Amino acid sequence: MEELFSKDIEDISKFYKFSEDEMKMLNNIDKTAEESYASEFEHYLKHEFNKEALESARKHGILGIPIDKEYGGSGMGPLILALAEQRLGQMGLGFATFFDVHTVLCSQALQLWGTDGQKDKYLRDAASGSNIFAFALTETSAGSDPSMMKTSYVKENGRIIINGTKYLISNGSIADTIILFAKSSAGDGITAFLVDTKSEGFDVSIELKEKLGLFTSPTSMIEFSDVEVGTDAILGEEGKGLHVAYSSLINGRMGIGGGCIGIIEGCLSASVKRARERVQHGKAIGKHQLVQEHIAEIRQNLEMARWPVYFAAMKKSENNKDKMNKELMKETDMLSSLAKRIASRRAFDSADRAVQIFGGFGYSLLSPVGPLFCDSRVARIYEGTDEIQELKIASAVLGEEFSAFR
Ligand SMILES: Cc1cc2nc3c(=O)[nH]c(=O)nc-3n(C[C@H](O)[C@H](O)[C@H](O)COP(=O)(O)OP(=O)(O)OC[C@H]3O[C@@H](n4cnc5c(N)ncnc54)[C@H](O)[C@@H]3O)c2cc1C
Repeated sequence: MEELFSKDIEDISKFYKFSEDEMKMLNNIDKTAEESYASEFEHYLKHEFNKEALESARKHGILGIPIDKEYGGSGMGPLILALAEQRLGQMGLGFATFFDVHTVLCSQALQLWGTDGQKDKYLRDAASGSNIFAFALTETSAGSDPSMMKTSYVKENGRIIINGTKYLISNGSIADTIILFAKSSAGDGITAFLVDTKSEGFDVSIELKEKLGLFTSPTSMIEFSDVEVGTDAILGEEGKGLHVAYSSLINGRMGIGGGCIGIIEGCLSASVKRARERVQHGKAIGKHQLVQEHIAEIRQNLEMARWPVYFAAMKKSENNKDKMNKELMKETDMLSSLAKRIASRRAFDSADRAVQIFGGFGYSLLSPVGPLFCDSRVARIYEGTDEIQELKIASAVLGEEFSAFR
C-alpha cells in the first residue's frame, strides 16, 4: 500500500477500528489508484476522461462503497469514502471529482432519498459503474444562490415537462442519469428529478475545455428542451429539492476534503523526492533551509487538513445512524464546511509550495506537481465556495438568526 495512505490508516486505527471488509476495501482503493496513476497523467495531457481508471474502479468494486449490500454495494460509511477520495486525490482531482459526483454525491442521495423503485432501477448499475451519474444544480445565473435557478418544470396530464440549461456540470457528457434540480412554474418550489440522458430533448451543448485544471473531469453545459419524465422521476418530496441538494453536498464536501488531503500527500511525496535529488549550489536543495521551510509547511498542512476531514466523516457516520437528531445534523453540516474549507486552502498552499520546490520544471504539466497545482484551485470553488463555507460556519456558531442567506 502507498506509504502515506498506509500511515493514515495506521493513525486513524488508534481512534477507529476498521472492520476486515473495510480493510479489504482500502486495499482495493489503493490498487485502483496505483493502476490508474500512469493513465491519469496521459489523459490529463490530452484533456480527456480516464476510461482506464473507471475500469479499474469497477474491477475493484469501489463505486459501490456507500450503496447498500442488497443493491450490490458494500454499505460502508463516510470515512471510507473520504479515504477513497483521498487516495485518488494523490493523482489530482480529475478522477476524484468523477468519483465524488457519481458515488459520494449522487449514489448516496439516491440511497437516502430514493423510493424502492428508484433504488431498484439505478443502484445496482451505479455500484457496478455501468450507470454513471451527474448532479446538475448550477446555472449561469444561479451558483452560490441556487434559488435563482431558471430551469423549470410544468405538469401536464400526469407528465412533467422540463426546460432549462445547467452549467459547469461534472460528468455531464458521460452521465447516463442526471440528478437535476428544477423550479415549478406553478410556484411549488424546487424539486429534484432523476433524468436519463437518453431522454428526447436532452443535449450536451458545450464541453468546457478551457479550464485551469481538472482536465480528466468532463465539465459541461447541458440543455433540457421539453424533456418529459413521469412523477416516478421525482427524487425526495416535490418542492423539497434543495433539501436533497444540501444534504448531498454535506457528503460531497467531506469527499472533496479527502481529495484535498490526497493533493497535499501527492505534493509532499513528490517534493521530498525532488528536494533530496536535485542539487544546486553544491548540495541537495533539501539541505537549503528555505526549501526545508516549504517541506515543513506542506507537512504541517497535511496535519491541519486530515483530522478535520476524518472527524467530520466520523460525525457523519454517527448522524447516519441517528438521522432524526437535528443538533447532530447541524453539527455535521458545520464540520463538513469546516473540513472542506481547511483542506482546500491547505491543498492550494501545498501545491504552490511544491511548484516552488520544483522550480521551472514545476511550472509544467509534465512535472508531478503541475497538475496538482492546477487541480487544487477548484476545490475552493465547487460544492460551495470558501466564502459560503465561512458564512455557514459563522451562522452555525452565532445562531440561525445570523444566517447571511436570510
Ligand atoms: C470545474 C467545476 C466543476 C463543477 N461541477 C459542478 C457540478 O457537477 N454540478 C453543479 O451543480 N455545479 C458544479 N460546479 C459549479 C460550482 O458549484 C459553482 O461554481 C459554485 O457553487 C459557485 O457558484 P458561481 O460560480 O456561480 O459563483 P458565484 O455564486 O457567482 O460567486 C462568485 C463569488 O461571490 C461570492 N459570493 C456569492 N454569494 C456570496 C455571499 N452571500 N456572501 C459572500 N460572498 C458571496 C462567492 O463566494 C464567489 O467568491 C462546478 C464548478 C467548477 C468550476
